Amino acid sequence: KSGGLEWDFFFKVVLIGDADVGKTSIFRRFRNGSFAQRRGSTAEEDKHTKILQVEGKRVALELWDTAGLERFRSFTHGFLKGAAAVILTYDIVNMESFRNIKNWHEVVEKLMGEHGICSILVGNKTDLEVSRKVSREEAEKCVNTYGMSALFETSAREFQNVTEMFEHIAWKLKRDH
Ligand code: GDP
Ligand code: MG
Repeated sequence: KSGGLEWDFFFKVVLIGDADVGKTSIFRRFRNGSFAQRRGSTAEEDKHTKILQVEGKRVALELWDTAGLERFRSFTHGFLKGAAAVILTYDIVNMESFRNIKNWHEVVEKLMGEHGICSILVGNKTDLEVSRKVSREEAEKCVNTYGMSALFETSAREFQNVTEMFEHIAWKLKRDH
């Protein structure tokens, strides 16, 4: 119990990926359902806890946003420490952000070891479908290659598939713990 919230399960979840892919926008959708047009310049490490109901249990997800540290690839060990799941985020109209998923995956493995963390791949900005550069097939291949647990394509702007993605994480973490 903390801050008036009660839960049956508690999991730390972190958002990582290149700058500008929409991590802070996804974080804001999780926190209060809002979307801001301008870049989310998170000045400090932001986190927010929300309770999701899974099969009659209260699953608390504590979501951490990066504070823009991805620009310097300088993650503190503390950012990933204790995380049960990592959301590896790219932008479906930015191929480089997708190629860099490999690097982010390696960063996570180095800091966390090969086991024990659930990785979810998220391709954001599906509202820009007409300019899509990263196919769903390529992304699915990546999920298989790195043993990630799921692929979600989202739009933080249109609030598409974001809730479903967090519900999946809560369900999966509860099932595996
Ligand atoms: P971060 O650097 O990964 O935290 O990315 P931000 O959340 O700050 O978003 C970077 C830019 O992408 C901002 O201009 C957002 O408005 C925009 N953005 C974020 N999510 C979406 C989305 O789903 N669709 C579109 N079209 N733009 C988005
Ligand atoms: Mg950000």
